[in-house]
Amino acid sequence: MKKIVLATSNRGKLAEMQPLLADAGFELVTQGELGVPDAIEDGYTFIENALIKARHAAAMTGLPALADDSGLIVDALHGAPGLISAHYAGVHGDAVANIRKLLAELRGIPEAQRGARFISVIVLLWHPHDPQPLIAEGLWEGRVLETPRGDGGFGYDPVFFDPALGLTAAQLPAEVKNRVSHRGRALALLREKLAALAP
Ligand code: IMP
Repeated sequence: MKKIVLATSNRGKLAEMQPLLADAGFELVTQGELGVPDAIEDGYTFIENALIKARHAAAMTGLPALADDSGLIVDALHGAPGLISAHYAGVHGDAVANIRKLLAELRGIPEAQRGARFISVIVLLWHPHDPQPLIAEGLWEGRVLETPRGDGGFGYDPVFFDPALGLTAAQLPAEVKNRVSHRGRALALLREKLAALAP
């Protein structure tokens, strides 16, 4: 098994990504377990932030590094919450406050104009100066409801409605969400790209 550092301290992400990469022959270890502090995410795009995180983890550990950056993009808000999805309302990870702020910003905007998408960008760097990272982007199209529905998932899931499934992300069983979500799609694409590299 080849060891790869996952540029996060979030064990939830490790749990989500480990099984998907294990059969590709990779063992993931989080940077938190290796004592690596978080990188400063000062990029202007999801891809820049994913690369910053992966480069930092690779430089600090000497291992290949995998990083992801994700968020919610709302058309009527010119792309907000975007890069600051995790701390839109001020406090990192306060999903209730983030949703409250999002719904307030969208108050009065009709259903047809509430289009939004989740994005996940995953990058894999073999070393800190790798000029050709593997990059996989996944999108999940939907719209923002006026009131939350469902109690599964995390973050903006209760207000993110998938019109094809007729449910919010918070109403989907985890295995369904993992299949259709931005992160699931990005991971599937990354695996395809890894498989194409295999001798
Ligand atoms: P990060 O990629 O860990 O920085 O996550 C960014 C933020 O985007 C999270 O804190 C959530 O607010 C939001 N987000 C990303 N993916 C999802 C998802 O699958 N459901 C709900 N919110 C998400």
